[in-house]
Amino acid sequence: MDRQASDAIIARIAGATEAVGRTIRIMEVCGTHTHAIGRGGLRAVLPKGIALISGPGCPVCVTSQRDVERMLLLADRGDVTVCTFGDMIRVPGVTTSLERRRANGADVRVVYSPTDALELAASRPEREVVFLGVGFETTAPGIAATVLQAQSRGIANYSVYACHKLIVPAMEAVLSEGSRIDGFLTPGHVSVIIGPEAYEALSQTHGIPCVATGFEPTDVLEGIAQLVEHVRDRRPGSFVQYRRAVRPGGNRRAWDTLMRVFAIADAEWRGLGNIPESGLAFRPEFAAYDAVTRFDLPEVAPVSLAGCRCGDVLKGAIEPQECPHFGRPCTPRNPLGPCMVSSEGSCAARYKYG
Ligand code: SF4
Repeated sequence: MDRQASDAIIARIAGATEAVGRTIRIMEVCGTHTHAIGRGGLRAVLPKGIALISGPGCPVCVTSQRDVERMLLLADRGDVTVCTFGDMIRVPGVTTSLERRRANGADVRVVYSPTDALELAASRPEREVVFLGVGFETTAPGIAATVLQAQSRGIANYSVYACHKLIVPAMEAVLSEGSRIDGFLTPGHVSVIIGPEAYEALSQTHGIPCVATGFEPTDVLEGIAQLVEHVRDRRPGSFVQYRRAVRPGGNRRAWDTLMRVFAIADAEWRGLGNIPESGLAFRPEFAAYDAVTRFDLPEVAPVSLAGCRCGDVLKGAIEPQECPHFGRPCTPRNPLGPCMVSSEGSCAARYKYG
């Protein structure tokens, strides 16, 4: 980062914060921002009047414990290969994890994209392959595309355990829980898909600004500067810092692909509970690719991880270090909850960067 440029942005933040005259609480919704803030050492250079609060934007972390337990049930089946992104494999279940199941012989594989899972299914038509669909509007279109490909190529042994989430209803839920937030740094990559207009109604209803922000430290600093200036000027609205990628209207092609396969549905979140219209469910015409119906997965009673405060961390009610397990015994090597597992988790970021 250019030192002069960053000093100038920090001076803008300091000036606007002083003008507001109180602590400004900013929620960075996205786990990638949380890690960019830690990695860039940004907390150390921000004025005291800025409080950065991590939000519910880490996809692995917000996956409900019930979904984690049902994924474990899938891995227990001898006839299924479970494919997942790397972080999900280490998320603790109540008694075990996918990683431990794999060590005991279950066929669980880490893949880099859902396309890898689809190609695995294509290469082994005699074996069922299930991809664990975890993520927000950024990853869900790619997963929808694999379902469309499976259909057009006649790959009948591929399915998805879909627990995708939508970001704006989660932001609404955080506000309705009573969290005092003065502005949101919204995720640049999600905003590329949904467009900045998606935050406008929330922003106007609650009278707070949102700034779609990129992921370099300079982006985050500039996003914070813009947010604080909008707070100072009492200017709600949806704004874009990440102009090199976020366009008005978003990415219609990606969104249309998503909506061909999935419909908006209620979803259960860790910490935030059931949020109306905050997830994606298979449309009836794609039910054959839905792992839940395909394998007739049973309902699982609500469960939680003993002592883990990830739910409170995810809604900004506590800081990671306020959890009594933080650092001892819960560490990235010995995670007791998903927020310490994930590369986007707030506990992992705080542990790693302080
Ligand atoms: S420190 Fe560990 S146990 Fe505590 S909230 Fe974070 S992940 Fe959960």
